[in-house]
Amino acid sequence: MSEKTNKADLFFNGRWVKEIRNPEEFVKKFREKRRQGLISHHINIAWFPEYGEVRINSDGGRVRRPLIVVENGKPKLTPEILQKVREGKLGWYELVRRGIIEYLDAEEEENALVAMRAEELTKEHTHLEIDPIVMLGNSAALAPYPEYNRGDRVNYGSKMVGQAIGLVADNFPVRTDTKFNILAYPQVPLVQTSMSRIINEYPVGQNIVIAILCWEGWNLNDAIVMSKSAVERGLFRSFYFRTYETLKKRYWGGQEDEIMIPEVGVKGYRGEAAYVNLDEDGIISPEIRVESDSVLIGKVSPLRFLIGEEFTAELENKREASVCVRHGERGVVDTVLITETLDAEQLIKVRVRDMRIPEIGDKFASRHGQKGVISLLVKQEDMPFTADGVVPDIIFNPHAIPSRMTVGHLLEMLAGKVGALSGQLVDGSAFTGMKEEEIRKLMKKLGFRDDGKQVLYDGATGKMYPALIFTGISYYLKLDHMVTDKIHARSRGPVTLLTKQPTEGRAKRGGLRLGEMEQQCMVGHNAALVLKERFDSDLTAIPVCTKCGLLAIHEAAKNKTYCDVCKDSQIAWVQTSYAFKLFLDELKAMGIYPKLVVKEV
Ligand SMILES: [Zn+2]
Repeated sequence: MSEKTNKADLFFNGRWVKEIRNPEEFVKKFREKRRQGLISHHINIAWFPEYGEVRINSDGGRVRRPLIVVENGKPKLTPEILQKVREGKLGWYELVRRGIIEYLDAEEEENALVAMRAEELTKEHTHLEIDPIVMLGNSAALAPYPEYNRGDRVNYGSKMVGQAIGLVADNFPVRTDTKFNILAYPQVPLVQTSMSRIINEYPVGQNIVIAILCWEGWNLNDAIVMSKSAVERGLFRSFYFRTYETLKKRYWGGQEDEIMIPEVGVKGYRGEAAYVNLDEDGIISPEIRVESDSVLIGKVSPLRFLIGEEFTAELENKREASVCVRHGERGVVDTVLITETLDAEQLIKVRVRDMRIPEIGDKFASRHGQKGVISLLVKQEDMPFTADGVVPDIIFNPHAIPSRMTVGHLLEMLAGKVGALSGQLVDGSAFTGMKEEEIRKLMKKLGFRDDGKQVLYDGATGKMYPALIFTGISYYLKLDHMVTDKIHARSRGPVTLLTKQPTEGRAKRGGLRLGEMEQQCMVGHNAALVLKERFDSDLTAIPVCTKCGLLAIHEAAKNKTYCDVCKDSQIAWVQTSYAFKLFLDELKAMGIYPKLVVKEV
């Protein structure tokens, strides 16, 4: 069990197998055999002297990563082998099979000493990192110069890349996903990383000119000022697609749905005007503008309780079941698709497209966790400009930099400026990208200050700004959080059946909740009576028996109110929220007697 006895417990996938001798020797031989290809490279082994345990794992779901094997301080990936890889004579899996590269799981990593670079290798090292960038995940490796940023910002930045609108697929014109966004003019980033080179075919943003200055206070608190003229030229324009679909179902008893313009008399008929856009077949045509709740596919279904009974074609037995544009959305009908399912049922899909031009409230971000919303769109002639006549697309507030320490953002702006001026892509890969000194040298060569600062002129007055302004080019992302999808208000509207309180959520035309904290605010502002108004959304009057304290019965038809328990007793009408009445019912359902003691005040 212990090191002294030189024995250890052997575990396989967490189960004890047996006791073994010379564990260290055992593990060493096991690894040798794996590198020779005698044991599958999917199996990992780890030796824990502190527990006296050897653990072998082969089960699924382990996170593993590839490393170059090092023996006696020399990496097994020699320049000769590397040359063969370059010539295409050796593939990745051949390297794995030959034991030059091996995958380690979290447990085997505990036995390894990994060098970051080949120069750091000593006799103690067991492995060498393929490239330092692999310590980052796929999306974190997309950000340039992440090693100059604070760790959490790299994380935020990679999360925002995931929310960015870009080119998701080449076949998007024929796709019928429920919803997706496409950026109109996607660009490859000027400052590349070794990871972004791989996904360059599917870019997610645009390279834009940024000036870092406060502009009349409009960009305070992470807001951004954007050039209206650039937006009109197509900057960050995107398209939003949503596909609606319906099935022409057949029911038991020979009844079936009908795709048609519903006739007057059908239950839930929307009125003639609602169906004007439909063709004779009851389906809308491409390129017709549709607004919120417009009918796309006219459909009539048999009433549900009639299923199985005798077939009747009368209008009263039919129900309006048209497919409409979601509440709060709009656009132009893009594609209409009529096909059949495997069960030979007619399937109709209508795709609606909506052009999204950046507007106040839309969200944008760089790849460094610096996000913000547009607060103002400014005409080009009012924006600041350089001596060359360059006008920034975005004015970014300098206060966003010091507290977040995203130095990588500043470096990207400088590197982007070099790239744009010299017409080349700059490498900004983590740890191996173009260094600051190199960027500065190139900036000087191009005739600019090496610190990125420039003289800017006020667009309104034409006067030179007294301070130099840091300007550069950075890759920006349009995030999938647009105001049109979020804007919402309500005066009256639907309520839920159970509680009679307003529905929740924008899609259901819900109310805006005045919660506990808001209620405390009202009290704190000496406005407690406002609450009496605000909390009457489900106001009801309930008849209460003054004798037994239970709810009485009110027969509206006979205008009679009486207690079913006491028969002849005094009834009092009490105003309360419907939710409270529901609560009383629930107590009674549990066998609890909720007695209300009512008194005239
Ligand atoms: Zn009673």
